[in-house]
Amino acid sequence: MLPKFKSSLLHKCPRCLKGDMFPDRNPYHLRNTARMHSHCPVCGLNYEPEPGYFYGAMYVSYAFTVAISVAVFLLYYVLMPQQGVLAFLVLLSIVLALLSPYTFRTSRAIWLNFFVRYQPSQQHESSDSQNQAGSLK
Ligand SMILES: [Zn+2]
Repeated sequence: MLPKFKSSLLHKCPRCLKGDMFPDRNPYHLRNTARMHSHCPVCGLNYEPEPGYFYGAMYVSYAFTVAISVAVFLLYYVLMPQQGVLAFLVLLSIVLALLSPYTFRTSRAIWLNFFVRYQPSQQHESSDSQNQAGSLK
C-alpha cells in the first residue's frame, strides 16, 4: 500500500508509518475519538507543530462530507427513486453521523500527510536527536 494511503486510512504516522496517531485505535470509542498523541511514539514526529494546526483538516472533512453526500444521493436515487427528499435527508444524516468518527480522524491524518514526507530511514536518527535535545533541557 502506498505510504500516504496507509498513513491516512490506518491513522499511522506519515513519517515512519509505524507509530499510531491516536492512542485508542478504534475511532468509535467516542470518549477517545479526538484524543491524539502529541508526538509519534516511534519516531518522535510532532503531530501538532503549531496551535490550531488541525483547523485545516476541516477542509478535508468538508470534502469528505460532500463526497459522501453525493454517493448517498446517487445510491438513494438509483435504489429508491419514488421516496421523497425528507427520507433522503434522514438517511444522509444517519450515514454522516455513523461515519463522522472515522472521517474526523482520517481528515486529520490526510491534513498531516499534506505536510510530512515518508522518511523510513530517518526514524532512528530523529528519535535519537530528539532524545538528546530532551536531555539537554
Ligand atoms: Zn513516526
